[in-house]
Amino acid sequence: MPTSKVSAVTFLSEDVFELVLERDGVIFRPGDCFAIANPSGVSRPYSASSGNKEACLRFIIRRMPNGQVSQWLAARAPGDAVDITLPFGWFRPGHHLDDGGDPNDQSIFVATGTGIAPFRVRCGVPGTYGRSSVFMGSAA
Ligand SMILES: Cc1cc2nc3c(=O)[nH]c(=O)nc-3n(C[C@H](O)[C@H](O)[C@H](O)COP(=O)(O)OP(=O)(O)OC[C@H]3O[C@@H](n4cnc5c(N)ncnc54)[C@H](O)[C@@H]3O)c2cc1C
Repeated sequence: MPTSKVSAVTFLSEDVFELVLERDGVIFRPGDCFAIANPSGVSRPYSASSGNKEACLRFIIRRMPNGQVSQWLAARAPGDAVDITLPFGWFRPGHHLDDGGDPNDQSIFVATGTGIAPFRVRCGVPGTYGRSSVFMGSAA
């Protein structure tokens, strides 16, 4: 499995953090995810939350109680290496403009919690898809 270096781990709340990795030129599409493994080889899929024109890879991850991978990732520091697969996925709603999609297409998404990740990237890359709106639900 390829490795990438941690650039930053930033907690956004008590349990949710942003993991930023060096991108190393990896090409992906909004909605794709990557499997990230702990040193025991246990891997979990995470949706990229960064735009595919950004120089880094960003993930928004919830630290699960006793979670094998999310707890380990939450404890990473800049410079640490992590094993990460190439991108894969099936969440590619709508038609990518590069594939002849219509810029007048409109999409509305509803997401909660860290499930916002693939929608954030989808809406954060102007000129990739038609117009998108995201409604995010969260506990008060
Ligand atoms: C396509 C896809 C994209 C995803 N994208 C994201 C994302 O962007 N961000 C994100 O945060 N997550 C995402 N996930 C979820 C992520 O892959 C992991 O499932 C999550 O991080 C938990 O993994 P973990 O190894 O930390 O926890 P695990 O070790 O899998 O444990 C999960 C929870 O179950 C509990 N548990 C484990 N075994 C038992 C048991 N026998 N009995 C009772 N409880 C048990 C653990 O204590 C823990 O609280 C995505 C999942 C998919 C399928």
